[in-house]
Amino acid sequence: MKALFTKVLVANRGEISVRVQQTLREMGITACAIYSEPDRSALHTIKADEAYPVGSGPSAESYLRIDRILDAAKKARVEAIHPGYGFLSENAKFARAVEDAGFVFIGPTPKAMEQMGDKLSARRIMKKAGVPIVPGLTEPVRDPDEAKAAAREIGFPVLLKAVAGGGGKGMRIVRSEDELATALQRTRGEAKSSFGDDAVYLEKYLERPRHIEVQVMCDTHGNYLHCFERECSVQRRHQKVIEESPSPSIDEALRQKLCAAAVDAARAVEYRGAGTVEFIVDEDGSFYFLEMNTRLQVEHPITEEVVGIDLVAAQVRVAAGQKLPWKQEDLHQRGHSIEFRIYAEDPLQNFAPSLGKIRRLRVPMGPGIRNDTGIREGYQIPLFYDPLLAKLIVTAETRAAAIERGARALDQYRILGFLHNIPLHRWILRQDEFRSGHYSTKFLEERFDPAELTSAIDTAEMESLAAALALVESGVGDARSARGDPPPSLSHWGIGGRQRGLGRRPGQ
Ligand code: ADP
Ligand code: ADP
Ligand code: MG
Repeated sequence: MKALFTKVLVANRGEISVRVQQTLREMGITACAIYSEPDRSALHTIKADEAYPVGSGPSAESYLRIDRILDAAKKARVEAIHPGYGFLSENAKFARAVEDAGFVFIGPTPKAMEQMGDKLSARRIMKKAGVPIVPGLTEPVRDPDEAKAAAREIGFPVLLKAVAGGGGKGMRIVRSEDELATALQRTRGEAKSSFGDDAVYLEKYLERPRHIEVQVMCDTHGNYLHCFERECSVQRRHQKVIEESPSPSIDEALRQKLCAAAVDAARAVEYRGAGTVEFIVDEDGSFYFLEMNTRLQVEHPITEEVVGIDLVAAQVRVAAGQKLPWKQEDLHQRGHSIEFRIYAEDPLQNFAPSLGKIRRLRVPMGPGIRNDTGIREGYQIPLFYDPLLAKLIVTAETRAAAIERGARALDQYRILGFLHNIPLHRWILRQDEFRSGHYSTKFLEERFDPAELTSAIDTAEMESLAAALALVESGVGDARSARGDPPPSLSHWGIGGRQRGLGRRPGQ
């Protein structure tokens, strides 16, 4: 068996850096972090065995600086680099630069990243591999006339999509022919400014699909395995909010078909390491390839929980040239896992980002509870990065039990100092549509009513908040008063109360 690395650099920040570091340490590998100036005392910086500065706050000046990351890797004398998700994780140029500098890139080959990174190239490869794709084009649209002809053939509504898009951005629904020319122009402009590439294509827009994705894991010895599916249909602005595994909506036959298609997709690009093949599934059970994410996914923990594996450890082994430690028949789903993404955003203001200092943080504990977090008390959330701060992952024997565990854990979760979406999660867990398991990607858009977050104020919550407020004002147990920081204003706590004053738990 080939030896593993002794030292690895995690080229990322926040919760995913912390999470990768944890596995590295368990494997006896020294974990090195990078940090930007505002992240000097971030959790991922503090937790690392060694941490290296890479620049100022804006990502373009730090976490996206390939030269500085490679300098850090040289200084640290690591053997390999783990890119996490986001930032440079899907950048083939980065992967290549890492390899050219003599380090191992813990991820797929730059070629596979290129083939799958471009949504159209991916569609062409999938078509050839016999994996169903969403009906639509496999080349960019050149002009409005071409777009009209294509849309007529596919049938409205259609979705204009940036070829280089990601993170739910660069998409526009078009419902009729007369909207098409303007929509094309706008989507192109956005694609250019967000992704530096104005190429746009068009595909059929499904009204009520489910987003179901399959985790794949491959090594360099010809093993292409899947680790089953994740249901990711609870979304806001085409971005995931809650994920669960197994999917409550598919039967065993469809599961097998999806997983087989995902393995075919991976094989088609000779994939290496961890990847995710995303599908949309129509009401009649037909499914279509959406895209492949050539990296570790935010929601990978729910797969780890139900399959009982460590995906980061497997990534590291594969990168070191080892064989995957399992065969397909060794992998099974057991129980049910749900992930809640904790975003620093205001569900009442159309999910606008929220900023502040974390005054109080209490994470729930107990059986079946996992907290993947990148935050700590006293930490000022920098304004430069993704609003995803932490993930709560609950696992239980059944879906119903996982929902109750989630409700309990969310009730106990305390984050004070800024607005976040825990109240939204608590609301979702009370909805019949979610509880029944029959929900589509339209669920939040159609059903979420911000008024329902403010209307049902839980008196017990209010009382405990008032007690907390009294404590803060008296300066007890708070280092802030010693430092002379101003106490949080009443309105600040008022906001906390509005956020967290949320009625009864499901089932009560
Ligand atoms: P991104 O790269 O931004 O993740 P995806 O292609 O994966 O883009 O799509 C993100 C989300 O947008 C999906 O999960 C789904 O909710 C929605 N979506 C994408 N394509 C379609 C489509 N053709 N019809 C309906 N919804 C879609
Ligand atoms: P690690 O495994 O990195 O040593 P710990 O066991 O110390 O982490 O922490 C357990 C959990 O508490 C983790 O979810 C971690 O993110 C969180 N945590 C650790 N330290 C802090 C802190 N200073 N503030 C807030 N949360 C923390
Ligand atoms: Mg996607």
